[in-house]
Amino acid sequence: MNELHYQLDLLKAINQKLAEKERMYTKVCESAEGAFLYYSYEKNQITTLGQWKDFFDFNVNEPKDFSKILDVVEEPYVLALRDILYLEKMKEETATLDCQLKGKRIWLQFRTQIYYDQNGIPTDKVIYISNITKTKSQNEELTYMAYYDGLTGLYNRNYFVRLLSEYIRNASENNSVVSVMIIDIDEFRKINDGIGIVVGDELVQQFGIFLKEICEENVIACHLHSDVFCVAIYQPSASKNVETIYKAILKRTKEAFHISSGQEIHITVSVGVAEYPEASKSPLELINCAEIVVFRCKKQGRNMLQYFETPVLTDFLDSIELENKLKKAVFNKDFYMYYQPQYYAGNRRLRGVEALIRWKDDESGMISPSTFIPIAEKNGTIIPIGKWVVEESIKQYAAWRKQFGFPFIMSINISALQNKKDDFVDSIVEVLNKYKVKPGEIELEITESVLIDDFQSVSEKLKMLRDYGIRISLDDFGTGFSSLSYLKKLPIDTLKIDKSFIDTVLTDSATRIITESIINMVKALGIESIAEGVEEEQQYKYLHAIGCDVIQGYLFSKPLSPEEFEAVVSGSL
Ligand code: C2E
Ligand code: MG
Ligand code: MG
Repeated sequence: MNELHYQLDLLKAINQKLAEKERMYTKVCESAEGAFLYYSYEKNQITTLGQWKDFFDFNVNEPKDFSKILDVVEEPYVLALRDILYLEKMKEETATLDCQLKGKRIWLQFRTQIYYDQNGIPTDKVIYISNITKTKSQNEELTYMAYYDGLTGLYNRNYFVRLLSEYIRNASENNSVVSVMIIDIDEFRKINDGIGIVVGDELVQQFGIFLKEICEENVIACHLHSDVFCVAIYQPSASKNVETIYKAILKRTKEAFHISSGQEIHITVSVGVAEYPEASKSPLELINCAEIVVFRCKKQGRNMLQYFETPVLTDFLDSIELENKLKKAVFNKDFYMYYQPQYYAGNRRLRGVEALIRWKDDESGMISPSTFIPIAEKNGTIIPIGKWVVEESIKQYAAWRKQFGFPFIMSINISALQNKKDDFVDSIVEVLNKYKVKPGEIELEITESVLIDDFQSVSEKLKMLRDYGIRISLDDFGTGFSSLSYLKKLPIDTLKIDKSFIDTVLTDSATRIITESIINMVKALGIESIAEGVEEEQQYKYLHAIGCDVIQGYLFSKPLSPEEFEAVVSGSL
């Protein structure tokens, strides 16, 4: 009897242990995010555990039910999944397979493991099924990002360069040509700054979509950056070459781009072309060469296509070298100021001086401001340079005013970019106060280019300066969009007639008529006139006769160093 009791207790204990174990296994399986499928070979029976119901709406109880799983996966995965489900022996201990469910964007992963006894006979199989849709789509996104540009759907720069390298490799084997076109939307900054970057982005997107449509076999396109695209053509032919693509672009840009916010935008593009093997044999260099040509198109008036030629590169490299030198010069303040006297035409007395910057470079010697000021305007160094010019000239004037004991006018050239800065007016006033200079003895020379972008805000700024008593002079009149009609609206004291007029005033009757009418007009408006670049006595006499107020030019004096100017003033006293 005792023996029976003992057996019963033992059985109970074993049962309890088993129940605990089963509970533990069920809990572990339930806590997993996936579903388990357990197959016992001996019993030929299948148990499903975990989140089975989240994955499938049917049950699987024996091997023939596996076909239900095969029915719900996409065709390309059926065979491989059949192996995983039915195989009894595998090369590896585990096998993994990713399958997409039929008609859905859901991805399941099947990971299977088979257990064997000591004789190598399979005993159990466990398949763990998990939902990997999220990781899959992240991977897809990463793959997309590796090859494509998110905004336009065109290839991205890296992948494009890889494809271009392949084009070049093939072309070198077949002795053929690869054309590379850089396409740059003209005045894109104006669109971005003026209408907003959202519109700018949509425009780039639409243009990208258009380029994608013109791609075909042996033609690829990419979005390089911002508003710049690149197209490569392998083995250009009569029906597919730079010209045919450019024609398609011109046709498209004739029509407006319709932006979803309702705007209609018309654009033009500048296109630079460089070809393998003529321009370069490397993909990156080819792209660079085409970019350099675009740069030249922009300088020559935009809306055009140009081909790369070797001299373009040398010019470009020179300008890059100069640009680097200029940056160093700004840092070291390697500049000097020269001053060119201006005289009243009537009595030949000193009216004032124009402050002109000089840059002496150790290697290249004197570099003309006509060469480096445009570069400084482009790369922004004109701001520190201009600041230095203003301070140096006003400081110099304060010293001379004290030294000579009489006032005259210090005329300072101001570039468009300087004038655009918000603190422009304040910064000038600050320097005047610092050196205790009267505003009426300082004149700022601006060119018409300052006015083109934003007539309203520039003329308001000029008005503020004038209200403060500073004189304003319009420089190089006659070279730009000069129109006498807007002179009335401009707050200016002085108008400088450009040297190009003075050069031909004696020989060309049309120039003479224009010059005379300019002088009459400004006189009527109470504006002072200055003739620039007067080199001959005859020119001076004529200009004096027609009523020009002030003469500046080599005839009377070249620009002078401060010491030279001091000598001239002391000599004339
Ligand atoms: P600009 O303001 O029209 O200056 C007049 C230019 O004509 C000066 O050239 C002057 O040396 C030159 N010039 C004067 N009289 C004659 C003459 O009789 N014959 C000839 N052949 N030339 C004459 P420069 O000094 O080479 O300056 C060139 C341009 O560079 C200036 O034209 C001005 O636009 C710019 N620039 C010069 N200094 C500065 C500066 O400090 N700041 C800015 N923003 N621009 C400057
Ligand atoms: Mg000037
Ligand atoms: Mg001038």
